[in-house]
Amino acid sequence: MADIFRDNVGGISTAPMNESIARTTNLLGIGVDRAFFLLLQYRWNEDQLRRDLSCLEKAAILLNRSIEPLLESQSRNGTCVRCLEYTWCERLSCHDLVCRQCIDDHVQEQIIARTLTISCPNELCGCYLNPSSLEELISVELRHDYTQVVMDDFIAQTRFPRRHPIEYIGQGLGFLWNNKKKFFDCGVIAAGAVGALKLNNWRKENPRTWASKMESVLLILSSGSSVF
Ligand SMILES: [Zn+2]
Ligand SMILES: [Zn+2]
Repeated sequence: MADIFRDNVGGISTAPMNESIARTTNLLGIGVDRAFFLLLQYRWNEDQLRRDLSCLEKAAILLNRSIEPLLESQSRNGTCVRCLEYTWCERLSCHDLVCRQCIDDHVQEQIIARTLTISCPNELCGCYLNPSSLEELISVELRHDYTQVVMDDFIAQTRFPRRHPIEYIGQGLGFLWNNKKKFFDCGVIAAGAVGALKLNNWRKENPRTWASKMESVLLILSSGSSVF
């Protein structure tokens, strides 16, 4: 299985991003492009993706909404869907024809708009370009820019995942519940320690009363043992 991102950007390794894609690929038994596409839609939240896909109905909808499989490179003369000129065109995975200049311009526009899922230049198409096909379709510089934008998103989403505040409350309550025994034990030990400390202080302050109290306690204990 080939990694989608091979080059590093700004000295930062793209490996964690590829690993996230690989985990999703293995888990769902889908191609890297599809996995990458889903991760973008899920803001790299693998747990949420896994939870959603565990519901079969939702999984079917999501996977259908995904991208077309990669076609063999099929360049030919035709009418470009963007500039409408009859010229040498690339055939996209959605079967639309687009000239080299238009695909570059289109991807550049989407990168500037920081759109991560690159759509087909044909506005009526509604498909997304297969991420692996970008490598053949766009220039090296543009590909580098695209990797940079995706990398920025990956870092932002995985280091500071956007979560609803209620999730944090839920997490806190979950922590308390999971560790309830520890908290209870700590409470009992703390109460015992405080009690012993108080008793010791009282004993020091009232040595005479302490002695008489202890005597009566011993008396009760010994009379109790004689009863049984
Ligand atoms: Zn064109
Ligand atoms: Zn298309």
